[in-house]
Amino acid sequence: MTKLFIDAGHGGSDPGATANGLKEKDLTLEIALKLRNILNNEYEGHSLMLSRTTDQSVTLSFRTNMANNWGADYLVSIHINAGGGTGFESYTYNGSYPGKAETNRLRGIVHNAIVAETEFRDRGKKEANFHMVRESAMPAVLTENGFIDNASDAAAAALKSDAFLTKIARGHAEGLASALGLSRKDGGNDGEQGYVEILADSLWTYNTANWDDKAVIVNKDEVFTVIRDKFPVGGGHMYQIKSGLYITANPNYVRYYTK
Ligand SMILES: [Zn+2]
Repeated sequence: MTKLFIDAGHGGSDPGATANGLKEKDLTLEIALKLRNILNNEYEGHSLMLSRTTDQSVTLSFRTNMANNWGADYLVSIHINAGGGTGFESYTYNGSYPGKAETNRLRGIVHNAIVAETEFRDRGKKEANFHMVRESAMPAVLTENGFIDNASDAAAAALKSDAFLTKIARGHAEGLASALGLSRKDGGNDGEQGYVEILADSLWTYNTANWDDKAVIVNKDEVFTVIRDKFPVGGGHMYQIKSGLYITANPNYVRYYTK
């Protein structure tokens, strides 16, 4: 059982960086919760601990003590940058310590997945003397996901967009799953390619396997390739389709078929 510690930077009386009507503490929490949901809905064989799941003050020492006492295998600390610049960068500890090469190897996998998913400008894989990466007893990475004070990073289509925060979370999830060797849940696929045809006049899709996380509307007669067979979600069922989005599996609204 791989133990992953997810740290949403800042919180409570510490807003982190603020600009463009955004607070770092809110964005990091949103991303952390989305990351938790994606990993729990789509992967198995791991357990997660979060430093916070609400807007609360948590000291840096409390965070690393939590992760160390739990015996986490990996720690990710989620932040938003500020101070002039644009794009994504990640940090590991700049000291010398056993396992540094492995820490940086794992970080490379996570870093590249986030850049690929978000299409952020890649500012590089960096090292620094930050508490979260220095005081954690396991391999750890701190991610800086765009600049809150940069107009284009903070734009309506970027950090102000729920769908973009989902992309950041999905980049983290895919990178962490690949770095830590998490296995995808078996949707019971029998090997035949499945499709869904939309029967309703219009129908919501979802960013994650969560009925509250609405993405875009699709229309009657559209057909989508299914990449994950029907699985239970909150009293109903969903398919995942090729775009990565999710859609209801209710036969009143969609028709499933194989060719
Ligand atoms: Zn921060």
